[in-house]
Amino acid sequence: MEKVILLRFGEIYLKGKNRSSFEKQLLDNIKHALKGVKYSLNRMHGRYIIENFALDDLFEIERRVKRVFGLHSYSVALKLPTDLDLLKKECVAFLPDSGTFRFTVNRADKKFPLNSQQIAMELGGSALSYAPSLKVDLFTPDKEIFVDVREEGYTFIFSDKILCAGGMPVGCSGKGIVLLSGGIDSPVAAYRMAKRGLKMYGVHFHSFPYTSPMAKQKVVDLARILSAYQGGFELFVVSFTEIQRQIHEKCPEEYMITIMRRIMMRIAERLAKANGCGSITTGESLAQVASQTQESILVTNETVETLPVFRPLIGMDKEEIIQTAREIGTFDKSIEPYEDCCTVFLPKFPVIKPKPELIREAESKLDVEKLVSEALADVEIIKL
Ligand code: ATP
Ligand code: MG
Repeated sequence: MEKVILLRFGEIYLKGKNRSSFEKQLLDNIKHALKGVKYSLNRMHGRYIIENFALDDLFEIERRVKRVFGLHSYSVALKLPTDLDLLKKECVAFLPDSGTFRFTVNRADKKFPLNSQQIAMELGGSALSYAPSLKVDLFTPDKEIFVDVREEGYTFIFSDKILCAGGMPVGCSGKGIVLLSGGIDSPVAAYRMAKRGLKMYGVHFHSFPYTSPMAKQKVVDLARILSAYQGGFELFVVSFTEIQRQIHEKCPEEYMITIMRRIMMRIAERLAKANGCGSITTGESLAQVASQTQESILVTNETVETLPVFRPLIGMDKEEIIQTAREIGTFDKSIEPYEDCCTVFLPKFPVIKPKPELIREAESKLDVEKLVSEALADVEIIKL
């Protein structure tokens, strides 16, 4: 008799023909998430089962599998040899202290002399004689106890199904790059795209010495938190100081943010292409700030020529974004007070509805190609 963990797939069940490659990715990701823990992993009837681990590691394994995208839920189960008396005895531990319960039996082993309903009745009867104050309720029980009688000669008993992160296995949608600031939004955007199966890379722009090393460290820390959801995270740190200085010097103040965004996008696109990423993600949300209007987004977008730009937060309220940030563990880090490069030289009145032709005209005062290639020549790569 031993404790095991049953893992259920999520949406990949729906994927018909591609299912085996999704499953292979999921399996790789589970193994990666459990690195350093001793266990064995088997596939069994549309589920995975984690066995042979030390009980002391149970909590850690649960913590890690909860974050694996593509898993729907898990249960900690008791695995025991199929024997009715033994089942009756062990089921007792799963009964509620008070209220109602039901046994839900699945008998895969057709050689077992009792059918599912008979097994449920036997177990229910024995449970009631052990705890006569409890009641059976088949429709809305306080506790449902699942008994899975397998063909291999053993049975699983479990009660709670604990939800995992859902989504698609990271990697099955390819790779993408996120513009990662130190703010609340972009880490959430990265999380949401990783949840759709993209292995995310990040690019962060900093303006040392106008921004402190602490501001950069904060982004590295955020990237580390994100790495737990996708098995590693590669962050490109790009110096934006010279670019910001030149925009400040040569372009109208109110266009500063728009032009900065356009150059960030160009650099992100080059980094994406160089690393096999098929999309760019940002943390923009419509109307949150001046640079997040339809007009601003149009002007920013036109600099990206060959990749789709994903804005998974575009229709979300700040409160909703904050809630996700708290759930995924990035919020407390994001609200640390170090300044972002965007706040350096910040104009008092940024343009809200930039006109593309005026922005292009202002930008023509810069040697954009030179600025972009110089920035790209000096990228720091941080692997987490
Ligand atoms: P965030 O909370 O993600 O910083 P925000 O609400 O502060 O977003 P902006 O500062 O306008 O909004 O930034 C919009 C998006 O541009 C960010 O979500 C991020 O994707 C990108 N971005 C902004 N600053 C940087 C930076 N220094 N490095 C990389 N990306 C950035
Ligand atoms: Mg920001």
